[in-house]
Amino acid sequence: MNNIFPKLLGNNAIKNLCGADIRNSKHSHAYIIDGPDGSGKHTAALQIAMAILCHNKGKDGFDLPCGICPSCAKIAAGYSTDVQFVNRGNNATFQVDVIRNMLSGIGYLPDDGDYKIYIIEEADKMTAQAQNSLLLSLEEPPAHVVFILLTTDSGALLETIRSRAHTLKTEMLSAPFILETLHKMRSEGTISERDENKLQTAASAASGSLGSAILLCSKSESSPVLKYREIAEQLVYALIFAGSAEAVNFCRTIDSKRTECEDILFYAMSAVRDYIALKNGNHSTLFYTDTEKAHAEAVKTTLPRLLGVYRLLEAAQDDICRKNASISTVFCTLAANAWKENR
Ligand SMILES: [Zn+2]
Repeated sequence: MNNIFPKLLGNNAIKNLCGADIRNSKHSHAYIIDGPDGSGKHTAALQIAMAILCHNKGKDGFDLPCGICPSCAKIAAGYSTDVQFVNRGNNATFQVDVIRNMLSGIGYLPDDGDYKIYIIEEADKMTAQAQNSLLLSLEEPPAHVVFILLTTDSGALLETIRSRAHTLKTEMLSAPFILETLHKMRSEGTISERDENKLQTAASAASGSLGSAILLCSKSESSPVLKYREIAEQLVYALIFAGSAEAVNFCRTIDSKRTECEDILFYAMSAVRDYIALKNGNHSTLFYTDTEKAHAEAVKTTLPRLLGVYRLLEAAQDDICRKNASISTVFCTLAANAWKENR
């Protein structure tokens, strides 16, 4: 069996569901790709578009898409007029004119292949009017048209749109998977970072995105993100395991700027989220690269305690981001409350 969507990492559910349909030329005329930023929505959309138009689609011995036929090469280089990106441009919302403009061209036959594929970015930003305008074409699209809607929140799309498209959910990559991929890239010479510690830290600070991990690897030793991640790890330890006095003392030492605190709290929440996932039998960690070690820590505490600490971190982030509260007060309250709840 050859690879399905070889450029899309992880996301096996999408590969299995969608790959077989395309291979058998039974693909849907509309897909919604729903997932957080950095989870591969664009890569998935391009791989689907390429696969639908691939000259070697369904042939034995070729990946899907093959990546080497003239159609694949043209799409990869961004020259194909049969694959078009549609977006809101500089406007805050996605206006109906953009959709009308796109729809005015769908009647024309494709230039090269059998299909014209429209990739609609940030589809959830479409106004209700824009969505309604699109809806008419989703109901009865020309046979040569495929729509791919990208969104971080498919719930923001009209139910009538969702019911006429096939929804695919992209997933964030786990930290161990990112680390493994970084190792592979290092052995292939794609990245040059030799320091194992730095690779591990980058994998866990990347919040599930390989792109972020590669960026972190290429940054200098003093990258502040790596420092925030370390503080976040110590913070989580203090709040869950260290004890009340130690937690308060540690929180007193945090003298970072407001924006830095937002990052620290975000990483701390990712770490607690991992513990909760591990306790629930989900081993797909986003923050910890060593799943076994994290699991060994997670079993030392209880689920209600983790949920309590998660909620406190969330509240602290809200106080810092939106309420402009004093940073030292927020962290000291966080430490005090974390241990008050535990009594
Ligand atoms: Zn091809």
